[in-house]
Amino acid sequence: MMRVGLTGGIGSGKSTVAAFFEDLGIPVYNSDAKAKALMAEDKTLQKEIIGLLGEEAFTEGLPNREYIASQVFPDPERLGALNALVHPAVRKDFDRWAGEQQTPYVIQEAAILFETGGYRNMDHTILVTAPEQERIRRVMQRDGAAEAAVRVRMERQWDDARKAALADFVVHNLTLPHTRQQVEQLHRQLLKLSYSAGPGDC
Ligand code: ADP
Repeated sequence: MMRVGLTGGIGSGKSTVAAFFEDLGIPVYNSDAKAKALMAEDKTLQKEIIGLLGEEAFTEGLPNREYIASQVFPDPERLGALNALVHPAVRKDFDRWAGEQQTPYVIQEAAILFETGGYRNMDHTILVTAPEQERIRRVMQRDGAAEAAVRVRMERQWDDARKAALADFVVHNLTLPHTRQQVEQLHRQLLKLSYSAGPGDC
């Protein structure tokens, strides 16, 4: 099963591109949603997070997002420590999920694929890009967020140049019809790559 990582900075259109792949019948694993679900369900992971951040990290068994954010975002070392707990759990869950799929390749969508080193677990990677001003405009519209808040979230991610240096493919998401065309072309390329890798080569 060929694994393809899909990433892009906030507002780049990563989820939009993921939906286009789904339209072509390719299953997409949403790492960010899964990370949230695992934090709510996986008792072992919960214990580890409590060990790092204290009992306040959970309220009635559910992650206390505000508290967790207040503990990790101002402190890169603590954020790294939390990621070091959550990412292996997500990776394991992705491996299990990927093993159940029947398609020539699967996609793992993750906001920070390069930052975490998760891309090393992938056969190929796709980066979605868009101009910074356009990304800010999209997120302000999507989330009703203020520009400064969007910029703070952006600053936690690597810039596009750093990610593009590691990506195998780049989708420039400007107009939606052109983006869909790029995804269709990429899909054909990925199918070819999956056939040349051969069945069972995973
Ligand atoms: P990401 O997952 O990278 O944060 P999304 O796919 O959620 O980004 O896109 C951010 C917002 O911008 C969404 O509301 C989406 O509908 C919109 N959007 C995405 N791509 C385009 C585009 N090419 N043109 C206009 N709006 C777009």
